[in-house]
Amino acid sequence: MRGRRPLFVGNWKMFKTPEDTRAYVDAFRIMAAELVAQADIALAAPFVDLDALRVALEGSTIGIGAQDCFWEAEGAFTGEVSAPMLSALGVQYCIVGHSERREFFGETDETVSLKISALLGGNITPIVCVGETHAEHHAGTSFARVEQQLHGALGSLSDAERAAVVVAYEPVWAIGTGLACDAESADTIMNFIRRSAGGLDEARIIYGGSMKPANATALCAQPNIDGGLVGSASLDPAEFLSLISCGLQVLDAR
Ligand code: PEP
Repeated sequence: MRGRRPLFVGNWKMFKTPEDTRAYVDAFRIMAAELVAQADIALAAPFVDLDALRVALEGSTIGIGAQDCFWEAEGAFTGEVSAPMLSALGVQYCIVGHSERREFFGETDETVSLKISALLGGNITPIVCVGETHAEHHAGTSFARVEQQLHGALGSLSDAERAAVVVAYEPVWAIGTGLACDAESADTIMNFIRRSAGGLDEARIIYGGSMKPANATALCAQPNIDGGLVGSASLDPAEFLSLISCGLQVLDAR
C-alpha cells in the first residue's frame, strides 16, 4: 500500500478575478466533497484572488496555493509578496520555479532555493517545478537538466526539509501544448528525481504538462506519479474534478 497521499493542484496562472474565484469555488466545493477524502486538492491562484479563495473555502479541506513568493520577509521590494504574508492569508502551498517564471521573469535555481527556504520557514509547502525544454528533450539531456535544477533548488536542504517539499516534474515542451509526456517516460524521469536527491523517498512528486481527464489515469497508474499540477484543465471546475477522479481510480488502488 502506498504511503504518499495523492495531490492535485490547479495552477490558474494569470486567469480569474476575485468574482470568478467565488463562482468557481461555489461549484467546485460541492462537487469535490467526496474526492477530498482520497486526495489533497489545492487551487493555486493569482495573489489578488487569495483572500477570495480563503473566504470561499472556509470550512473546506481544499488547500490554498500561491504561484510565487519573494524570499525576504519584508522590506523595500516593490511589487513582491513574502512567505509570511502568504501564511497570514492561509496559504498552504506555493509553486516555485515554474518554467514560465524561469522563462519570462528571470527565475534561477538560486532564487528557487531561496524561496523554498523562506516557504519552509513559513510552514508553506513549496511545489518545486523542474523539467527540460524542447531542445534539451531532443538533445537527450533531460536527466542532466533535471538533476541540475534539483541540486540547485534542494542542495542546501536537510533530508527532513526535502521530505516536506513537493516536486512537480513539468517537461516544458508539454506545458500548454496539449502534448503530454507519455506515462512510462514521465515515470522513468520521476523515478530518477526520487532517487537523485536524498530525502525524496516519501516526498510527493507530481506530473504537470497537458494533464487532462483523458490521460490522468494512465499517468497516475505509474508508481512514481503521485498526482498532478494542472494548468488549463483546472480552469473549469467540472473538468478539473473529472481529471482528479480519473487519477484517483488508480492512485487509490496502488
Ligand atoms: C502548468 O502551467 O503548470 C501546466 C501544467 O499547464 P498545462 O496543464 O496547461 O499544461
